[in-house]
Amino acid sequence: MRYAAPTTVDEARSLLAEHPGSRVFAGATDLIPQIRAGRPAPPVLVDLKRIDQLMTVLHEDGQWRIGAATPTSNLTRNRDFTAMFPGLSEAVGLIGSDQIQNRSSLGGNLANASPAADSVPAMIANAVQAVIASGDGTRTVPVAEIATGPGQTSLADGEFIVEFTVADPPSNTSDAYLRMIPRTEMDIAIVGAAVRLTVDGDIVTDATVVLGAVAPTAVTVPEAGAALVGAAIDAGSIDGSAMDTLADAASAACDPIDDKRGTVAYRRQVAGVMARRAAAIAVGRAQNGV
Ligand SMILES: Cc1cc2nc3c(=O)[nH]c(=O)nc-3n(C[C@H](O)[C@H](O)[C@H](O)COP(=O)(O)OP(=O)(O)OC[C@H]3O[C@@H](n4cnc5c(N)ncnc54)[C@H](O)[C@@H]3O)c2cc1C
Repeated sequence: MRYAAPTTVDEARSLLAEHPGSRVFAGATDLIPQIRAGRPAPPVLVDLKRIDQLMTVLHEDGQWRIGAATPTSNLTRNRDFTAMFPGLSEAVGLIGSDQIQNRSSLGGNLANASPAADSVPAMIANAVQAVIASGDGTRTVPVAEIATGPGQTSLADGEFIVEFTVADPPSNTSDAYLRMIPRTEMDIAIVGAAVRLTVDGDIVTDATVVLGAVAPTAVTVPEAGAALVGAAIDAGSIDGSAMDTLADAASAACDPIDDKRGTVAYRRQVAGVMARRAAAIAVGRAQNGV
């Protein structure tokens, strides 16, 4: 197995074209344990962390550009980013530990395609786009279109994510992410729930609800978002019947596995609870600022 550390996107592109079946990596916090566990080693391991564009976090012209290989701790430590996307920031702040977050990347979290990946529901709720190096150019797709099943993506051999883009949220908009893990630390989610919503005074005017870890890929639940739109907010709390409908819709959208971490029935119920709690946090942030 060869190691290569290109310094430009084009150099990485050429390496991948010359050596089919090679793999890019950023933090390698997923890739190296998988190879050690017996996954076939690729001919070349292409380290993306020497390419400036993939390591940069930029805020310009009303949008963020987040290098696909930049450590997720660069997002949690970025106060402006965290103020605009508190839910996305708290999602990446749940990945592993400080040590893991100093290596782990958004690109790796997404392309590893674990149903339990913490950043993915929050990225989808915020309509984050992935810019992919493809052929001689780039193509841009919504994050929701990358993972197609556990460990499976829509990326072709030789393609890799260069950066993520996300527009500044409209005013009175905020997000929240919550997950349930059976242990208190260093475990993977049995349910993750991201909610982004917009308010106008005491009314919710827009809402997106996305669940993780309850199906082969993250699930957007339009019925749960619709339950919140038009709901009244009284003393900071969303109308209870709208929240009941949201929770029921979230539970109904689940198609979870049954394993030692939780039964299907438990995961379904927890999905409703997590979605409701995330909505309650997001509405407080949208009304009051973070
Ligand atoms: C102890 C421990 C705890 C963890 N806890 C969590 C947790 O709580 N929540 C969670 O979600 N994850 C967790 N993880 C998993 C892992 O840390 C995350 O998924 C992390 O974000 C992966 O990022 P990475 O840069 O290390 O990925 P890598 O290991 O570098 O890559 C992962 C996969 O993505 C591909 N890839 C990487 N970058 C790109 C790119 N730019 N374009 C295309 N493909 C790419 C690689 O080829 C590989 O298949 C944990 C891992 C460990 C070891």
